[in-house]
Amino acid sequence: MNRKLFLYNTASRSKEEFVPAHDPVSMYCCGPTVYNYAHIGNLRTYIFEDVLKRLLLALGYRVKHVVNITDVGHLTSDADSGEDKMEKGAHREGKTVWQIADYYTKVFKQNIKDLNILDADLWPKATDHIAQMIAMVKTLEKKGFTYKTGDGIYFDTTKFPRYAEFARLDIENLQAGSRVDMGDKRSVTDFALWKFSPKGKQRQMEWDSPWGKGFPGWHIECSAMSLAYCPQPLDIHCGGMDHVRVHHTNEIAQSEAATGNPFARYWLHGEFLVLDKGKMAKSSGDFLTLDSVKEAGISPLAFRMFCYSAHYRSPLMFSWDGLKAAGQGLANLKKLALSETKRPLTPGAVSAESVDAVLAPFFEALCDDMNMPVACAHVWSLLKDPAVAAEAKYAAMERADAVLGLGLLTDDRPQEHVSDLERSGVRLRLVSLTAPDDALVDKIVEMAARRTQARANKDFPAADEIRKELLGMGIEIKDLPGGVAECRIGIHS
Ligand code: AMP
Ligand code: ZN
Repeated sequence: MNRKLFLYNTASRSKEEFVPAHDPVSMYCCGPTVYNYAHIGNLRTYIFEDVLKRLLLALGYRVKHVVNITDVGHLTSDADSGEDKMEKGAHREGKTVWQIADYYTKVFKQNIKDLNILDADLWPKATDHIAQMIAMVKTLEKKGFTYKTGDGIYFDTTKFPRYAEFARLDIENLQAGSRVDMGDKRSVTDFALWKFSPKGKQRQMEWDSPWGKGFPGWHIECSAMSLAYCPQPLDIHCGGMDHVRVHHTNEIAQSEAATGNPFARYWLHGEFLVLDKGKMAKSSGDFLTLDSVKEAGISPLAFRMFCYSAHYRSPLMFSWDGLKAAGQGLANLKKLALSETKRPLTPGAVSAESVDAVLAPFFEALCDDMNMPVACAHVWSLLKDPAVAAEAKYAAMERADAVLGLGLLTDDRPQEHVSDLERSGVRLRLVSLTAPDDALVDKIVEMAARRTQARANKDFPAADEIRKELLGMGIEIKDLPGGVAECRIGIHS
């Protein structure tokens, strides 16, 4: 498909045509800190990144998608103070840090699967890349970008003149505003590259380094791992909005200072999922997980659909009603897709050009910085368009769903179990979701026979009473042509 893609680049604060420098396109996404369950806000970010990856694939690009696992070094405060979130999680649950990391990584990957998010090509773990991080800090030290304090090796942001550019920071104001909590840092924006293990306290995760026992700073993890697996500059770097000011700003500073080259070309950031009482934060413990959604009887794909109700750069307010409505919307869309489409009998029966033509408005919306609400509206209109043949709609839905990831053509409605029988002078068709047991069948036959008798006697009130009695048992009886009575057991027509 020959179509230009425009993406909003946080670096330039504008929509830019996407022209990758590499094949495959390198796409690095900041991954989870595995000290607790991912909340559905985190998952919104991974869904937006998945749509981007799926769109790139649909446009014909090859993609190398790397998502890191932060299993050390992310402190409770972004200002390099506080406890390591991993050690805190271990303490909370009375387990080792390694057990915590292993458990929450597994749960996270299950969330990804449930949401039909395509697996990353690589999932590098921070603890497997300590050597690369130490090497990068050594380079920075050699180039004069670091200094040592009582608790670690710090990056001197005053040595990197472009530091404030990316997040449009007002450094003077920041300096003036936060004299407290700086420790031995020279400047409020300086950040830890390597933290020393606290004196007299054995950490569960610590490594030898040229500066003494300790652990890496959180930001250096992403720089070291992205550069270990992707050629520089990265084509795309993604994350949530909260990462712009500190984490990504620091990634840029240390990476560019170390290599002397631009770090990443297109920066995409997803806005937050918010609760009516404010932001959803893992650290506060007050958050919703995908399991809580599932426990409420709502499918993970309904949450995916819910995320499509807002542009990824707009905040999305969570509500259970909104989520339920999205689930209903998805069920209706699937019903429409299954009833309005017909799988072509021969492959290639529908030309690629005609599919391109009917999907043009859909891809136009997607290529305009992934406008999902508009793209989804086009899917509805296409399915309802009487001028488009059912086979063309099928081929179009296959292509559209490769981006949407909603399983639109998968019929996961429970299959109906149908059995015909003739007994006691009545002909019945029983429709149910599982084969009905013999006692129930006997009861239905007996009631249907009484109903037939009542009707033969023209005793319609009695016949109607039996119909109502059946309804009370969750059974709908309906007369079909040819003297057959259909009984739908536990399913409404
Ligand atoms: P974390 O596991 O806390 O390191 O965050 C994983 C990803 O979720 C990062 O890209 C964050 O920027 C993003 N994120 C955090 N909170 C939210 C939220 N409420 N809504 C959307 N994304 C979020
Ligand atoms: Zn990161």
